[in-house]
Amino acid sequence: MQTSHPTILVTNDDGITAPGIRALWQALMPVGNVVVFAPERNWSAAGHSKTLHKPLRADPYPIEGARGFVSSGAPSDCVALALLGLVESPVALVVSGINPTANLGQDITYSGTLAAAMEAAIFGIPAIAVSMEAAGGGDARDRAAAAAGEYAPVAAFAARLAGQILREGLPRHTLLNINAPGLPAARLRGVAITRLGMRVYRDELVRRQDPRGRAYYWIGGEAPSGDVERVGTDIWAVAHGYISVTPIRLDMTAPDLLPILESWNLTL
Ligand code: MN
Repeated sequence: MQTSHPTILVTNDDGITAPGIRALWQALMPVGNVVVFAPERNWSAAGHSKTLHKPLRADPYPIEGARGFVSSGAPSDCVALALLGLVESPVALVVSGINPTANLGQDITYSGTLAAAMEAAIFGIPAIAVSMEAAGGGDARDRAAAAAGEYAPVAAFAARLAGQILREGLPRHTLLNINAPGLPAARLRGVAITRLGMRVYRDELVRRQDPRGRAYYWIGGEAPSGDVERVGTDIWAVAHGYISVTPIRLDMTAPDLLPILESWNLTL
């Protein structure tokens, strides 16, 4: 359904210098005309935002073999700027990632990686969010993962999936959330089509005092876990060595609640 050289917009929430986006754009280059449009800094866990109260910058960024832009905006701003006209050619697919930590279950509501894909879905453009589970996470771990080529299996999978979406399309206002275990290709067990699981967050309030005696706070605690035994979920799949593919829709209506709310006979 697309021309032989569709434009693929590549973005992320970790910033344009992150190893994960480099692995992604390199894998996608044989699939289409890649345009990279990513934030200048790390926006992880910034969620879905739209910058309305200050100017946005978007400057050319040198990328070998592709066009690149770096922006002062959030990941979702990058996608909006590109789709509103900064990228002249029609964008056939948006791919966001590769995030160096997984985005499973309710993580998708925090994730800037997902926010970028959701922005594309709002525009009616098919989108994929790609994340990889990595013990510890963080910048040093991210560099180590890239050095070890750990992004290669999921980057290659994302490229094949991108080709399939370009041929077959996705329903409007949907996207795919991809999560890979942090395993070498030989240890991956396959691909699992999944639903969202339930994360268990272990956040703790950390209260400190600044040098002037005023309290400040961190949201600390251990990394989230989840219900890894609920078969068929994204959390189960990644914990058991599968690349997880979860279809997501923007319509978050809870249909089970409609008749219940009707029965409440709410009035003015
Ligand atoms: Mn991130």
